[in-house]
Amino acid sequence: MSVRLNSHLSDKQITALKDKLLSEAERIRTNFQLKKHEYEMNSITGAKDEVDSANDNILLAADMRFSNRESLYYKKIVKTLSKVETEQYGMCDDCGDPITFQRLIARPTSEMCILCKEESEREENQNFFERRSKSLGREMTVAGH
Ligand SMILES: [Zn+2]
Repeated sequence: MSVRLNSHLSDKQITALKDKLLSEAERIRTNFQLKKHEYEMNSITGAKDEVDSANDNILLAADMRFSNRESLYYKKIVKTLSKVETEQYGMCDDCGDPITFQRLIARPTSEMCILCKEESEREENQNFFERRSKSLGREMTVAGH
């Protein structure tokens, strides 16, 4: 077990957050398994006419979009789990202040305190399109790790 320095979170709180992260990861893994199973069953059920395959492609595209979002979230959970017991966890990326346990238990992958998050969302709304492409680029970088 790694040693935590200067963390504002108690061992009990860390354990609760870890449990939450693990159950989120489990939920996503189960979803993936179900989707995979669905596709396998569909491909086994034999010959399809062209209309059916076209519908399948539309469904597949929608599922891929969903899966991409889920898989980004999943990666974030795994990344968070790897640092949940270090002193970096629960500190705001922006201002370095501790993120409250209340906020972390609601969203254990939070990397910003509520004030910085609100600030960045305000900026995002003001300049939605410009910032959107920037944050997408950032997500891609995160996903690439
Ligand atoms: Zn902050």
